[in-house]
Amino acid sequence: MFTSIAGRAVVVTGGTRGIGKGIARVFAQSGARVLITGRDEDAAKAAVADLSAAGDVSYLLADVSVRADCARMAAAAVDRLGGIDVLCANAGIFPDARLADMTDEDIDTVLGTNLRGSILSVQACLPALAASGHGRVVLTSSITGPITGFPGWVHYGASKAGQLGFMRTAAIELAADRITINAVLPGNVLTEGLADLGEEYIQSMTASIPLRRLGTVEEIGYAALFLATDEAAYITGQTIVVDGGQVLPESLGALDG
Ligand code: NAP
Repeated sequence: MFTSIAGRAVVVTGGTRGIGKGIARVFAQSGARVLITGRDEDAAKAAVADLSAAGDVSYLLADVSVRADCARMAAAAVDRLGGIDVLCANAGIFPDARLADMTDEDIDTVLGTNLRGSILSVQACLPALAASGHGRVVLTSSITGPITGFPGWVHYGASKAGQLGFMRTAAIELAADRITINAVLPGNVLTEGLADLGEEYIQSMTASIPLRRLGTVEEIGYAALFLATDEAAYITGQTIVVDGGQVLPESLGALDG
């Protein structure tokens, strides 16, 4: 039904685990050639070993908050894959810090990775995306920030809402090169990073989701894949919420049925 994306060159930042790895798996299973990035080599090697059954996946160690690393990433994609058709700017962190205690380092690390890192990743890939003729950028934002709030995540929420502000103007600038840029807003998805938040957090989040379960990493991947299809060519500057209905209840009682 959808035009195949087999053979397309796809870069997934933060693709060594969690949602990024799920996105990489979905694209690889669809026949795309995928370059994943992260900073930890053991995790990257393990991810490639796991994903290689799905398709053509390789890794590069690169920090999205460092401009030179993003340039290396784009160059490696052009070298290995012959170009870049799709950039999934997914790398992100979500450390906990209350506003009253937040340090400069807390703020700079979260904004530097999640917001600046998204901008640097897109900037570095722009020439290759433009050359593709059907360049696609898919940002991994979040419901937290753009729609909801959660204690401990003021800096995280600001970074995730900031990605959408970036996206809306970038969509206009990039349209001249027929590049689209959209964002997926996951709710709570069971990843290694989320598991670190503890069982109590996971239980309480599950109870607040109408579909009564956390999302899977592949469910975020399918939304990203849709935005990368030829059939989504006329969608730009938009968001897709993938959250099992988490943002919908007006009160806890609304979930009692
Ligand atoms: P995760 O399991 O912690 O994985 C994060 C990935 O990003 C890893 O591959 C990590 O590899 C990489 N990464 C982190 N900092 C990086 C940096 N500076 N440069 C390059 N790569 C970096 O996290 P996740 O839960 O999958 O989250 C992925 C994205 O989804 C984030 O943007 C997050 O905000 C968003 N999100 C997650 C959820 C959720 O419920 N899990 C919900 C909404 C949005 P290294 O550590 O090796 O660098």
